[in-house]
This record gives sequence, structure tokens and C-alpha cells, in this order.
Amino acid sequence: MTNFKDLELDPDVLKAVEEAGYETPTPIQEQAIPFALQGRDVLGIAQTGTGKTASFTLPMITMLAKGRARARMPRSLVLAPTRELAAQVAENFETYAKYKKLNMALLIGGVSFKDQERVIDRGADVLIATPGRLLDHFERGKLMLTGIEIMVVDEADRMLDMGFIPDIERIFKLTPFTRQTLFFSATMAPEITRITQEFLHNPQRVEVARQATASETIEQRVCMHRASKREQATKDKREILRRLITAEGDSLTNGIVFCNRKRDVDIVAKSLSKHGFDAAAIHGDLDQSLRTKTLQGFRDGDLRLLVASDVAARGLDIPDVSHVYNFDVPIHSEDYVHRIGRTGRAGRSGKAITICMSADEKYWAKIEELLGTEVPRLDNPLKGEVEAAPKRDTKQPSKAKKQDAKPEQAQEKPARPPRNRAPKNEQRSSDRQTDRRGYRQEPRNTIVGMGDHVPDFLTRDFRKSGQPSDEAASAES
Ligand code: AMP
Repeated sequence: MTNFKDLELDPDVLKAVEEAGYETPTPIQEQAIPFALQGRDVLGIAQTGTGKTASFTLPMITMLAKGRARARMPRSLVLAPTRELAAQVAENFETYAKYKKLNMALLIGGVSFKDQERVIDRGADVLIATPGRLLDHFERGKLMLTGIEIMVVDEADRMLDMGFIPDIERIFKLTPFTRQTLFFSATMAPEITRITQEFLHNPQRVEVARQATASETIEQRVCMHRASKREQATKDKREILRRLITAEGDSLTNGIVFCNRKRDVDIVAKSLSKHGFDAAAIHGDLDQSLRTKTLQGFRDGDLRLLVASDVAARGLDIPDVSHVYNFDVPIHSEDYVHRIGRTGRAGRSGKAITICMSADEKYWAKIEELLGTEVPRLDNPLKGEVEAAPKRDTKQPSKAKKQDAKPEQAQEKPARPPRNRAPKNEQRSSDRQTDRRGYRQEPRNTIVGMGDHVPDFLTRDFRKSGQPSDEAASAES
């Protein structure tokens, strides 16, 4: 087995890796790092949880140790699809580069342009950005990409899902042809293959085994429910969810509740809180500072239940959780495997419980087909009660009630946006306002200055003195 010491990384990087507690490189690190250090383009096929972030950050820091950044001309660029992922990459950089004097700028939406410009003006060795915000800076004339030596595209399949591929192509064209490219994707859709063929030069392909089926350490259960009336369905679901959570008692230390739609993420989180559960929502329409705070609370163990959408949760480095609840059956079977993969990690046991309504049975059948097994059924906690329901409500609903019922009925038809199209409002909408001249504008109602939640790397000078700061030392990997 390869040791980190065999990988020819900078000694300061090795020291930081050792302090992070890593003993041996993961397969993607073992395969990708040597090629990256040779200056080769790398096409990494790996998903989150494989250690892929370190597989590009460690060689980047090693290579950037030589040379200096010039004002407004960053030397390297990492593109990530969401703000959280970009912030996560930045945290990784902070951890591994703590003994290096490297200047890093994080360019994400929801943060004031001025703070970000200040860091760029000082000269950034590493720029970590979401595509929309990077182009915003470029169009403001505050940034030149002609000095880019290394460019990383992380989670390219997510970029495709979110409609960022045209932006990625444009950014590629703004960087020098001679750049080194490290490109990561969990899957290789035809569109992704096309991009890699156009922009990567003789890449070394490295691939780590994909998690095709759910881990055996996850105990899966499904609770089937037929609502007495369609408009009753979502209320029933929330009641079932509460009872299923309560039934787990203290064995539920922390859990994620997945919903298919952002609107339901909010409704479910509010409903749980109202009923005395320690729960908070995370999705793309929430303020960045609130998302960061919620996520940190969950990581620190201060928040027990995180209610999330797939887009918000995917790729996030969230610690192992004891329980995953699917408030909605995911429409794409592979999302089920991703969701429940949040629990039962590293040989620990975990439990994944899905609520399946009659309208979702067709999706559930596909999931069981993918799993190749039938998931054990849980007793429906509303059993006796729902059978009595039609008797309680035999009268025709009033006109007003009928009108009220409409949105609930619509809610029963889950509609996932087609792949390739950016989900409305998910991050891009706020990134994308332009003025009459076509220049991108700072979105209205965004936080300027980030309130109380300014990441420490935005507030301090990145040219570190060589001594790790307290924050850097405690930053999580
Ligand atoms: P990633 O796939 O980059 O999101 O990494 C998943 C998790 O694995 C993160 O929490 C990393 O801190 C952790 N990690 C990365 N490399 C190693 C390693 N060599 N040994 C142990 N843990 C690691």
C-alpha cells in the first residue's frame, strides 16, 4: 500500500496531512496525485466521500509553493457547482496549506463583491469559485484569467445538472491553452465526455469504484401509506414522520430528512420545529450565512435533524448520521442510494426510513429493482387512525376547502426539473441579475458583509506568517 510519503508531496503539505489524521492515501489520491504532480491533465471519476478533494488540493499546494501571484491574476482556479462545495474546498485548502504562504480567494454568491475584490487585488494563488460568481467578477473587469496555471473542475456532473456547462466552457476559453486541468465527475454523461475531449489534453483517467448498491451496514425500512383523501396526504406524511422519528428514541443521534422540493424542505422543517423537534432546513434559496450556520450546527452536533433537498445536500461533507428519512421517495433511483449513503459509513450501522405514498409506489418499485431486494415494510403508525378517517369526513368539502386543496393536490405530483436545466432559484437566480449594459449586478436582498458569519479566510491576510493560526489549526478537513 502506498504511503503519503511516497507521493512526493511538499514536506509542509505532508505535515498538514499528518496532523489532519490521515494515515494512508485513499485510492483516488493514490492514483491521481502522482499524475497531477507530473503536470498531466487528470480525469478523475469519483464521487464525494472518496477523498477526491485532497486528491487535487494536495498536489496543487505542492506545485503552487513555487512562484508568486500577481494582482488580479490568480494562478489557479477551482470551480465548484454550489457555494457549500466551494466553501468546503476552501476549508480543505486552509487545512492542507496551513504551513504555506498561499493567498486564497473564495468567490461565491451571497457575499459582497468588495470583500472578494480586495483579496483578488492582493494577488491570489488559488481562486475557488462557483461559475456564475467567477464570471460576474470577470465581467466587472476585476479579474484576469490569463495567468491560470492549474484549473480544477469539481463535480462536473452536478454542473451539468445545474445548467453550468456553457459557463464552464466559457471559463475554459478564458484561461490559457497551456494550463493543467484536473477534472472530476462522479459519472460521465455524453455532455461531460464532450467537454473533456475538447478541453483536456491527453488526460490520465483515474477511476475509483462507484457505490453501486447501498451499504450492508444500512438497515432500510419503508412505510407504505395510502391517504384517505389526496389533500390529507402531506399532513399524514408529516404525522408519520414525527411518529417514526419518535419511535427511534435515543438511537437517533442525528439525522437528515430528505424532501424532493425546496418548498417542502421549509414546510417540513417548520412543522418539525413546531412540534418540538430540533430541526432546521437547508436549501438553495436560503441566505448563505444561514446555510453555513445550519450546516455548522449540524456538524458540531448542536442540531439533531437537518431537513434538506438533494441539491443542497449532495456533495456536502456531512459526518456520518445515525438516520436518514426520505420524506419523499426520490424520483431518480440513484438519488436514493446517495441519500441513504449518508448513514452507515465506515462500517458503522445506520438506518434509512422512507415514507412511500400511493402516488410514489412506481418510483419505489424502481428503487427496489435497483437494489435487487425488497426493503422490509414498517408498520404504518397511522394504521387504525386512517381507516377511520373517511367516516369522520363524509361531507363534501366546502368550496373554500376545495380551493385550498388545489396546491396540495399539485404537490402530490412531484416534478423534478429536467436534467440540463438550472433549477429555478437554486443559487443562479441570485447570481444572475444584469444591468442595462448587460453587466452582472449584485443581487438585491443579499447579505453584504456576511453579518456575523464571515469565514475567517475572508477576514484575514492569507499570507500567513508560517505559523498556523488557531482557526487554521482547528479547521476541519
Ligand atoms: P471528499 O471525498 O474529498 O469529500 O472527502 C471525504 C472525507 O474523507 C473528508 O472528510 C476528508 O477529510 C476525508 N479524507 C480525505 N482523505 C483522507 C485520507 N487519506 N484518510 C482519511 N480520511 C480522508
